[in-house]
Amino acid sequence: MTIGSGVAGALVAGPVLEAGGTVVMIERGALVPWAKQIELGAWEADVPGAEHNHENDPAGDDRPWTSVFGVGGSCLRWAGVSLE
Ligand SMILES: Cc1cc2nc3c(=O)[nH]c(=O)nc-3n(C[C@H](O)[C@H](O)[C@H](O)COP(=O)(O)OP(=O)(O)OC[C@H]3O[C@@H](n4cnc5c(N)ncnc54)[C@H](O)[C@@H]3O)c2cc1C
Repeated sequence: MTIGSGVAGALVAGPVLEAGGTVVMIERGALVPWAKQIELGAWEADVPGAEHNHENDPAGDDRPWTSVFGVGGSCLRWAGVSLE
């Protein structure tokens, strides 16, 4: 069983499935299909228990958390970050 459907969950589940095993994946967020993500410009849906986390840097700087609560996890998000 994996808790979460992000990269970590997938890396655990993959080898088990390849070996013929069964995986139960528990995900708090909803599935937003790819086409719907493009249409909405959003990776996640505000469903009960998986509302977007708006927590910001406790130091007061504008650096919000960017975790995605949804099927696929945070790798769904592309921010186009370019470090200086
Ligand atoms: C803007 C941005 C750019 C990035 N760029 C890169 C990059 O270029 N290269 C790179 O290697 N990495 C990059 N990363 C980092 C990478 O995306 C993350 O490290 C990775 O996706 C984290 O995977 P994870 O499975 O650990 O967590 P997540 O993908 O966050 O998955 C956790 C999952 O668990 C679910 N969950 C949480 N709590 C519960 C619960 N109690 N019950 C059930 N489900 C739960 C969540 O909804 C989520 O789906 C980037 C991240 C961001 C935000």
